[in-house]
Amino acid sequence: YIGNFHAPPIEPLDNHHLSIHDLEAIKVIGKGSSGTVQLVRQKWTGQFFALKVIQLNIQESIRKQLAQELKLSLSTQCQYVVTCYQCFYVNGVISIALEYMDGGSLADFLMTARTVPEAYLAAICKQVLKGLMYLHHEKRVIHRDLKPSNILINHRGEVKISDFGVSAIISSSSAQRDTFTGTFNYMAPERISGQKHGYMSDIWSLGLVMLECATGNFPHPPRGSFYELLEDVVDQPSPSAPSDQFSPEFCSFISACVQKKATNRSSAQILSAHPFLSMYDDLNVDLAVYFRTAGSPLVTFK
Ligand code: ADP
Ligand code: MG
Repeated sequence: YIGNFHAPPIEPLDNHHLSIHDLEAIKVIGKGSSGTVQLVRQKWTGQFFALKVIQLNIQESIRKQLAQELKLSLSTQCQYVVTCYQCFYVNGVISIALEYMDGGSLADFLMTARTVPEAYLAAICKQVLKGLMYLHHEKRVIHRDLKPSNILINHRGEVKISDFGVSAIISSSSAQRDTFTGTFNYMAPERISGQKHGYMSDIWSLGLVMLECATGNFPHPPRGSFYELLEDVVDQPSPSAPSDQFSPEFCSFISACVQKKATNRSSAQILSAHPFLSMYDDLNVDLAVYFRTAGSPLVTFK
């Protein structure tokens, strides 16, 4: 069965002229706020890609911004960020050929695993932080839409950040706002309230994602409307990890991420030296095995 857990590792592409006509669709593997994601295979090489298809009817200015952002995505080279191989723009449809991550997203994984034990979370978080350090400190970009469905995993135990910039632009573009089905859930107070946001807004999102993975629940109480969520995020105390269920190191890590005031949060670089990340090093956890077996013996990688 194609693309299953035993699929061969994805080789780096030596072909810079990936043509959309050479890609054959295999199946739809995901639906998100901006469109669908298909598993496709390049006819000649047999190589798999995830093709993100975005149907857009957007203003010229947004299309330009998007093109800029996609150009940036194409230039990222980091093993902790999902590779973007090629973008196509045909008849108002944007298609982006991405590195195929056969474990799907953390959002998918959480549906079967329910919760992620601290030792595994530390191993996952180390990789996410390396991706964030690359984006923040090397590329000087803010992700803007860090959430469980934008953290992807594969059968080699690799964890990578995807969709920086792109989905954020689409979700905030006026043409798409009516149909926006994405989430404000992981947005930092400064961002959700429409103020200036920066690198530290991603750190807030990281804290919420880690907390959700640990507890199995989204950290804010369920709310019916955007305004109720906004009120919670802005006016209520920051979410925190229950100290009777989690290590002091983990609680401290979360607290370093979800400070209300952006300047009180720790940078990706500072966080990567946090004691939580090294406290389980002796266990030598194997994320490849964990991703394969957690939650259910029947977990099938897409
Ligand atoms: P979202 O707004 O939820 O991030 P996406 O369209 O980016 O929506 O992704 C939707 C789903 O598609 C993800 O949860 C994941 O299951 C799947 N997906 C996205 N990108 C990839 C990829 N590169 N490899 C494998 N699966 C992917
Ligand atoms: Mg995404």
